[in-house]
Amino acid sequence: MTFNELNLIAPILKALETEGYTQPTPIQEQSIPFLLEGKDLLGCAQTGTGKTAAFAIPILQLLNADHAGRSHKNIKTLILTPTRELAIQIGESFAAYGRHLNLRHTVIFGGVPQGAQTQALNRGVDILIATPGRLLDLMTQGYINLKDLSIFVLDEADRMLDMGFIHDVKKVVAKLPLKRQTIFFSATMPPEIQKLANTILVKPEHVAVTPPSSTAELVEQSVFFVDKKDKRSLLAYVLDNKDIQTALVFTRTKHGADKVVKDLEKSNIKAEAIHGNKSQNARQRALSNFKEGRIRVLVATDIAARGIDIDLLSHVINYEIPEVPETYVHRIGRTGRAGASGIAMSFCDDEEMQDWRNILKLTAQKIPVNDKHPWPMAASGMVQINLPKNKEVVRRPNAVSAFNSRNNKRQHSGGARQGQGQSRPAQRPAPRNSDN
Ligand code: AMP
Repeated sequence: MTFNELNLIAPILKALETEGYTQPTPIQEQSIPFLLEGKDLLGCAQTGTGKTAAFAIPILQLLNADHAGRSHKNIKTLILTPTRELAIQIGESFAAYGRHLNLRHTVIFGGVPQGAQTQALNRGVDILIATPGRLLDLMTQGYINLKDLSIFVLDEADRMLDMGFIHDVKKVVAKLPLKRQTIFFSATMPPEIQKLANTILVKPEHVAVTPPSSTAELVEQSVFFVDKKDKRSLLAYVLDNKDIQTALVFTRTKHGADKVVKDLEKSNIKAEAIHGNKSQNARQRALSNFKEGRIRVLVATDIAARGIDIDLLSHVINYEIPEVPETYVHRIGRTGRAGASGIAMSFCDDEEMQDWRNILKLTAQKIPVNDKHPWPMAASGMVQINLPKNKEVVRRPNAVSAFNSRNNKRQHSGGARQGQGQSRPAQRPAPRNSDN
């Protein structure tokens, strides 16, 4: 299917061409026709599937039909999303797809002064993208009038619940006009989210895209069994490979993320961290330094990274194995976006072995072990990990191979790195003319 067949108007088709989008993703193919008909929609999809365009494109087309050439005085569409990063990305998407239309949008979120946001609201906007706390705050102060609203999008509803925003979301919904089109997206549908969907949607169409565990198949994965104390050396060693153009490194904790950055600096590798303790400005700066190629390595916690959209990310490195196996799928889904291939490496120490087994069970994939690195786990004895589906046995290195590898390490130190047993360089598509 092509975008042409979705009956999109010429200015939007032109913008999509500029973005380099040649065909709609499955979620777009399924959602756009229903949304153009004005129907409510319940979408089960996570970031990385193209869900933002799945709602942004039809919204732009509908608003353009109803309001082209009119005033921007009242807000016609509200998009509620849980994090600042997502709000900014959604704003960038509206800017990109709506570049040839006369519609205005603005983005509001907490953690920054409100002045610039209220000024934009006073100038008038058609589309408002907001996080719940700041939205309620500015509503209470009288800056936001939703009486002309005709489309409401609730994005990442399950994450709103995780982050404790569900009460705020309900407060916002209570203030919306009853006659409206409602679009509801969630990666998962726990009972509380299903209940919320039932109360705010009217006869919705249902669309869903492949469950998360299968997206992992696009990504070339490997695991390095390594002692905790050697992870920092292993990371510097791996990143020494210049084929790694961009790497997003995951840690479990904020403190861990900062520590990895410091350790990398000692190895002369420039990196920055993003996590909840960093100011909004510091996070945005780190993100744009990374997106624009000023730093190769970004270190993040799961909360900070989920939903962050980095075009052409070549590598994801799990410095620490996540406790929740689905998180692994979310992490490696940062690379391999919209059908592109990517590479994911995981560093697993002794204490994380059970978490790794759970990941193997969830993904039901053969994930090759890279035991050619200089710091294989020093534990004696052979540990076997039985993969659930294919019954493949992965051997963890024993004391003898660890000894041999330590000798290797000595030979390696100081010299040019060769034969690191690393994955092939990422095969990436040509960059698009997009910064979203
Ligand atoms: P999302 O799931 O909305 O976070 O989108 C994930 C990524 O896919 C973003 O970088 C989009 O720019 C990109 N994308 C969305 N739709 C398409 C498409 N039809 N073709 C190629 N890339 C797309």
